[in-house]
Amino acid sequence: MFNSLISSIKRWQRKSRPEEAPQSTHPGDAPGSNKPARQDSRKKAAKESRKRNGAAKASSAAATPSRVVVSRSDHTLSRRDVSRAALTVMKRLQEAGFEAYIVGGGVRDLLLGGHPKDFDAATDAPPEQAKQLFRGARIVGRRFRILHARIGREIIEVTTFRGHHSDGEEHEAQQSEHGMLLRDNVYGDLESDAIRRDFTVNALYYTTQGFEIHDYTGGMQDIEDRLIRMIGDPETRYKEDPVRMLRAVRFAAKLDFDIEPATAVPLQQLAPLLRNIAPARLFDEVLKLLMSGHGERTFELLRQYHLWEHLFPDNARHLDSPEAEALTRQALRNTDDRIRNEQRVTPAFLYAALLWPAVNFEQKFLSEHGTPPVPALAQAAQKVVGVQLTHTAIPKRFSIPMREIWDMQSRLPRRGGERAFRLQEHPRFRAAYDFLLLREESGEIPAGLGQWWTEFQQADEEQRQQMVRDVPRNGPRGGKGRGRRNRGGRNRNRSKRPNNGSEHPSS
Ligand code: ATP
Ligand code: MG
Repeated sequence: MFNSLISSIKRWQRKSRPEEAPQSTHPGDAPGSNKPARQDSRKKAAKESRKRNGAAKASSAAATPSRVVVSRSDHTLSRRDVSRAALTVMKRLQEAGFEAYIVGGGVRDLLLGGHPKDFDAATDAPPEQAKQLFRGARIVGRRFRILHARIGREIIEVTTFRGHHSDGEEHEAQQSEHGMLLRDNVYGDLESDAIRRDFTVNALYYTTQGFEIHDYTGGMQDIEDRLIRMIGDPETRYKEDPVRMLRAVRFAAKLDFDIEPATAVPLQQLAPLLRNIAPARLFDEVLKLLMSGHGERTFELLRQYHLWEHLFPDNARHLDSPEAEALTRQALRNTDDRIRNEQRVTPAFLYAALLWPAVNFEQKFLSEHGTPPVPALAQAAQKVVGVQLTHTAIPKRFSIPMREIWDMQSRLPRRGGERAFRLQEHPRFRAAYDFLLLREESGEIPAGLGQWWTEFQQADEEQRQQMVRDVPRNGPRGGKGRGRRNRGGRNRNRSKRPNNGSEHPSS
């Protein structure tokens, strides 16, 4: 797949930049080469290409766009790769006399040989007129009015070409004192739309009329150079919409691209602007960042650019602890693996892991100061979740199971009598067990209890009964040699109980 991208871009380059000598195909792209070698060579080739382009490419895209039209024979994007729904949307708009293009991730990912998760369309039809063309279509959004056209089971987001917001009336365009766009519904043409988009690689327009790609911002070159480059002045564009900072990181992680230097420079300084974003929007962004299969890499980049502490301040504060960092990374890695294996993932589990180091810390603190374990956990959870909610929302359907996963951590060690059998029936058992394994793997608690539960789930009825009978002899908390029963009864000297971090404080 990638070979065809290279050759398509080569052809495009030869045509649009006749002064440049054509380049050879990257050795790592030869059939049969393994992926890391291919990625290395892709990056190397991108670097060389950047060098060649020198000063002209050192800063962000020029404000005045110049259009490059890449003709059908000079790119690899085929209408066969575009979803039927997206083709239908384009066709209907065109038949009604409007312009219609596929833009954004659909074009970008297809040029890179990937599988777009959805297709977005752009048109000169105003939303109300476009709406007439699709039964059951809805206009959504206030800041940006977008049409959701439903074709079969697919929803295609149709946006009307954006214009320059300075040209609009107050009810169409509005900006906060920090430069943030509160409303951006001034319409324009393809060219003005292109420069209102975020990154050059997201501003490539494909049309089935002529099967061309229209590039106003140098996106084709940046796809080849593997660069995320902001269109226009990065600082101004981040101020208009601070979520673009997260998007830069998301695309860099997902596509294995570099963030172009001028695009990266303002990130750290402007990161606090994320505080101005509604927590509900940030929750949605967090899911895209961490639950799209590249969570661990995204986490690294978010930390590198000092954005992480504005999304998960309580997690960030505990990352000095090796166990907290290991738990965070492992949770993200497991999520990535599960997505790759097409297994189910839930934000409840991920949030449980990200907030756990802080909850655990608070709970220990409260326990050491005399609060009994169960209320200590409840209070700790309340406090940590309360802080988190001021940054990213956590819908109830996720926060409730998240708390159950935490609660179960103090119940999993107690397996005597019927308890183990009952616990296993709990709807949150599987997640709580996975969470326990994660804690053991990260070194927060010693290994043992997880293994007991693994064996319990694999054992037959008779073996299970025996395992449960054996529990009291090994102590209430888990496998052989783990923990000792708190001699002297539950309430004896609780506040003085040593808490060396080697066991769950509530157990
Ligand atoms: P993916 O869907 O794979 O996550 P995408 O690039 O398609 O990536 P969307 O969020 O679907 O991202 O947005 C579609 C397009 O709309 C983008 O490619 C970009 O051109 C434009 N866009 C989205 N969000 C912004 C933004 N905050 N500022 C400017 N342009 C944006
Ligand atoms: Mg998209």
